[in-house]
Amino acid sequence: MTLSTQLLLTATLMGGLLGAEPMETQTEAALTVWLYDYADVAAGTLERSRRQATRILNQAGLRIRWELCPISAEEAEQNRDCARRAAVDTIRLGILSKKMAKKMTKRGIEFGYAVALAEGFGVIAGVYLDRTVREADSIGLERHIMLGHTIAHEIGHLLLGQGSHSQRGIMSPTWRGREINLAKTGRFLFSQDQAERMQVQVAARIRAARADSVTAAN
Ligand SMILES: [Zn+2]
Repeated sequence: MTLSTQLLLTATLMGGLLGAEPMETQTEAALTVWLYDYADVAAGTLERSRRQATRILNQAGLRIRWELCPISAEEAEQNRDCARRAAVDTIRLGILSKKMAKKMTKRGIEFGYAVALAEGFGVIAGVYLDRTVREADSIGLERHIMLGHTIAHEIGHLLLGQGSHSQRGIMSPTWRGREINLAKTGRFLFSQDQAERMQVQVAARIRAARADSVTAAN
């Protein structure tokens, strides 16, 4: 059982015992991630990567609701995910092809990017599939593990804001032997401090999104 489900369960049980409404905890609110697979990732790999990222973010006390968005007009006719107006509690994450990655960066060494803002809520991030997979293959890490950690890292950037690299843990900027070993054993995670800051951030985004939808409806 993850920490977040444990907290949620405890909160629900206490609510039930006290005969009150379930307590509102930060872990109950979910962050939505709209996933755009521009790189045509193998279906199994994408699903397993998503599960990896979910596990890492769950351990930081966050709940994630994923939607797999259509990337063409034809797909959009079949798939109604991501069709509504995007709000600040919704992160847009692209898995980018080699060609897209080439256009976006010159150095060719980054695995992903996030448009973190000094003020307000950054919602755009991406992962460069080709580089991530190549790195995974070269260091003997399963592809979905590398991809899942990269996704969680970039979401971390959006939630923690600018300058959010840390010396240790999943927000470290370079991943070497120690980090890879932690990733292999499921222990390459956010720190407690980062987890708390992200929970506060998600709660703030959800409040802002709700306020915004009320304004839009008026
Ligand atoms: Zn980074």
